[in-house]
Amino acid sequence: MSNQVAIAIAAHPDDIEFQMAGTLALLRKAGYTTHYLTLASGNCGSAEYSSATTRAIRNTEARAAAKILGAEFHPCLTDDLEIIYSVELLRALAAVIRDIKPNVILTHSPQDYMEDHVNTSRLAVTAAFARGMANFRTAPPRQVANHPVTVFHAMPQGLRDPLRRLIIPGAFVDTGSVQKLKRQALSAHKSQQHWLDVSQGMDSYLLAMEDMSLEVGRMSKRFQHAEGWRRHLHLGFCAPDDDPLAEALGRAYLVNRAYERSLKSDGQ
Ligand SMILES: [Zn+2]
Repeated sequence: MSNQVAIAIAAHPDDIEFQMAGTLALLRKAGYTTHYLTLASGNCGSAEYSSATTRAIRNTEARAAAKILGAEFHPCLTDDLEIIYSVELLRALAAVIRDIKPNVILTHSPQDYMEDHVNTSRLAVTAAFARGMANFRTAPPRQVANHPVTVFHAMPQGLRDPLRRLIIPGAFVDTGSVQKLKRQALSAHKSQQHWLDVSQGMDSYLLAMEDMSLEVGRMSKRFQHAEGWRRHLHLGFCAPDDDPLAEALGRAYLVNRAYERSLKSDGQ
């Protein structure tokens, strides 16, 4: 394989750290070039600072987090609550996809607790779909890229869809070996931390991430800390059985047989 490139596309600074950073870090260990992109600036993530100040603070924090993860940082494209499924954002995101030609895209769940996440997922999927369409204009203009790409959707916030239904992962990634790195990357988002227990050096922000990875680990029945993924239908993207995470991660990757069975019983 010549082109081993992965990009995490999330909505807000720190979303990658919560749901995707372990897998991104493991891909890097496996030889991938990795990229880090959040569509929104995080400008609404403060009650004390102005939008402009918060945007600047969070840009610095996200850059630091990407560096910790060893991923190339891409600047955000819009502000919080303004991730609309728009042609403007689609052109900008498709330009990034054509530039870096990822064979793995990690993005949000198509069902998630807020629209910024849902729209990020939709934009990432369509930007990937448009990679080879010569008549689709990107901004800035970029040559088409006709490479296979596999899209993976992360677990939603709270592991549930907006109608409160539990989401079952199609596969689990054992993030135990990179859990420390994931914590360090999340810690880079200093403005988002609310210290509860100074004596232990832990805060609720870090614990929330830990709780989520432990919960997904329990769902796996094998790993202690895990991230969960659902692979997007291949049509328009890659061959039916392409699973580059399985190839790259080996024993750290576990297909959820129960999920696979549920696909068959649906007649798919
Ligand atoms: Zn978010």
